[in-house]
Amino acid sequence: MILLTRLMQPLNTMASSLLDFLMPWRCMICYAVLPSDTLWHYICQRCFDQLEPAPPPHHLLAAFDRIHQTDESAISHIIGRWSAHHERRPGLFDLVYALKYYGYWQIGIELGRELGAATQLLSTTRYDGLVPVPIHPARRRERGYNQAEAIAEGMQQVLHIPIWRNALCRMRYTRSQTTLSSTERMVNTRGAFGAGPDSTRLRGKTILIVDDVFTTGSTLNSVAMTALQLGTARADAATLVVATL
Ligand SMILES: [Zn+2]
Repeated sequence: MILLTRLMQPLNTMASSLLDFLMPWRCMICYAVLPSDTLWHYICQRCFDQLEPAPPPHHLLAAFDRIHQTDESAISHIIGRWSAHHERRPGLFDLVYALKYYGYWQIGIELGRELGAATQLLSTTRYDGLVPVPIHPARRRERGYNQAEAIAEGMQQVLHIPIWRNALCRMRYTRSQTTLSSTERMVNTRGAFGAGPDSTRLRGKTILIVDDVFTTGSTLNSVAMTALQLGTARADAATLVVATL
């Protein structure tokens, strides 16, 4: 069996080289063909180098506290990896849309690794668990997956922290936030989350909530508030993209 596996190995390598030749990986932003030893499969080095880093955690937290008033803020620390503008296309949002709406799970993992590396640099807190922002069961049926879980998987590869997928759940099917003002977003997400089947994990623990895009932070704050009500000691947040309006 071992011999057969060894004999098959060069064939597998040949098959994947042939596939790379016939259908090479391309950058989703500039469509350049990616080298066969590429680190990322959806973005080229040149486009990657042009992505704008997110503001540092204390800037993000100050912006967040301004929107949510200090007594309503449930998040202690916010880590962002990149900043991006919705209107500036093509760009990072094309990758996020592909992850979110077109089933490109691997994008979440690859970018999640980058967010994991940023977390190592930008936070000194030891986290007990990663909590991806839950999606409503109806939306999961529609989409087939939760993109925040893909990001958390990539982060886990770097941080080696367990992912708590079922600690919280989304109880309300909230409308899309894209066209809402910051006040409407707060109302839209308030009370949207509740205890999941594994909510007891949260008691006394320090968690890192994971999401794809940070705009006003209403969703993250609502998730953090629910976690604190269920006994979480501290809730921080990590997001791939900080959207500039
Ligand atoms: Zn490119």
